[in-house]
Amino acid sequence: MLPHFFESVLQLIVKTSTDLPPDVREAVKAARAREDHGSRSAQALAIIAQNIDQAAAGEGAICQDTGMPTFEIKTPVGANQIWMKEQVKAAVAEATRRGKLRPNSVDSLTGENSGTNLGPGTPILHFEQWEHDAIEVKLILKGGGCENMNVQYSLPAELPHLGRADRTLEGVRKCVLHAVWQAQGKGCGPGAIGVCIGGDRTSSYVEAKQQLFRTLDDVNPDERLAGLEAEIMRTVNTLGVGTMGFGGKVSLIGCKVGALNRLPASFFVSVAYDCWAFRRLGVSLDARTGAIASWLYRDPSVPTIPMMDQAGFQRTGREIALRAPLDEATVRSLRVGDVVMVSGPSFTGRDAVHHHLMSHEPPVNLTGAVLYHCGPVVRKNDDGTWTVTAAGPTTSIREEPYQADLIGRYGIRAVIGKGGMGGRTLAGLKQHGAVYLNAIGGAAQFYARCIERVEGVSLLEFGTPEAMWHLQLKDFPAIVTMDAHGNSLHKDIETASGEQLAKLA
Ligand code: SF4
Repeated sequence: MLPHFFESVLQLIVKTSTDLPPDVREAVKAARAREDHGSRSAQALAIIAQNIDQAAAGEGAICQDTGMPTFEIKTPVGANQIWMKEQVKAAVAEATRRGKLRPNSVDSLTGENSGTNLGPGTPILHFEQWEHDAIEVKLILKGGGCENMNVQYSLPAELPHLGRADRTLEGVRKCVLHAVWQAQGKGCGPGAIGVCIGGDRTSSYVEAKQQLFRTLDDVNPDERLAGLEAEIMRTVNTLGVGTMGFGGKVSLIGCKVGALNRLPASFFVSVAYDCWAFRRLGVSLDARTGAIASWLYRDPSVPTIPMMDQAGFQRTGREIALRAPLDEATVRSLRVGDVVMVSGPSFTGRDAVHHHLMSHEPPVNLTGAVLYHCGPVVRKNDDGTWTVTAAGPTTSIREEPYQADLIGRYGIRAVIGKGGMGGRTLAGLKQHGAVYLNAIGGAAQFYARCIERVEGVSLLEFGTPEAMWHLQLKDFPAIVTMDAHGNSLHKDIETASGEQLAKLA
């Protein structure tokens, strides 16, 4: 068959997971330049920039959530797509084995992780024939945090702060603004969105994701849609959502809109939200050998200029050192906006752990503990020890039904995550004396370097991302965004940006 096909696809996966394309790098640089020096968004973007460099230099995953691998493959007429499909799957499994992809394929009925990123529906493969000799393979890796921020509207609809959205381009504009606003920090903004007007419920979402394969500087060939994209980009950044929902001048780095015909009775607007860790690349392959003839989105002959120097976290001198386990007085002294540097033991826990702890005693003493919402990428060493290779925060709001109960029951004093939590958790923090610390979503390489060592693991039967990892932290930076006095930066930014959204109606 094609002797180099497997290796070419493997290279594509590794590069996509570890090195952001130039247009996204440029957009992150531009966002950094726009934010005020020393602001929360500027500090967050500095961490993001360092993380991008660290991932590329060490060929590590940019974000620990390497997402749902989605391949778009174009083949010459007569190519054996069945064989290619098996080769792509083998390459995905190999990239997972090498730690470039996190095992992300979970049986929806049993909760069991296949460990290989293979299973019904994963990876996603779309084949199309075309009248060219080459094989084109494009890949997008889109994680769960931003995937959960996708939204589909059925017009006409009443939208919070914006009023009625009709079946017009003006109605579509309102939907898109609403989609960006509702994501707040949960989708690891500043984000980029793909939009589809029309189609049916299924094809509409597929086309919205397809739009994410366009480069950020691409101009829509349809003048009407180009105008809509430009209009959205002209106003959306006045919302003030900012990086990670911290407030700031850049909430969106790109908006790409496509349109499909629809049924007379339907008018869907689908929005695919992608995070700053906008990982998409592609290759053109020699159809006789499968070797890479050229890359899409990047030119390997152009050297990558680092995003910034690697001077470490940029301190202002106002950072507060926290050493776990924490006592109540220390925690109650913290206020929203404080930047903390956390050291000492911490335990990871996400969906499976939270659910488990509601009916089982914890495997470790959580009194005064720092709980980290994180599903790391870990490597088992030859001597049986573990090394974390990627460890950014996961979206915390999923744990809202459990968090307050677990804080009260076990004495947890700090929760590290991203995107913030809701009213129930906020009340729990106040009642029991605990804080929520927002880390920078996706900064998996940066935070992996803040983990001195892995001291153990519990509940490994839940799979690597869902297990409870016992980590020793050293100067792990995060921002207090919910304190023990009932204050929530997330609530404040959502309210302020909602008022701004109303002005764009
Ligand atoms: S950067 Fe955030 S939203 Fe994007 S994949 Fe990583 S954790 Fe998910």
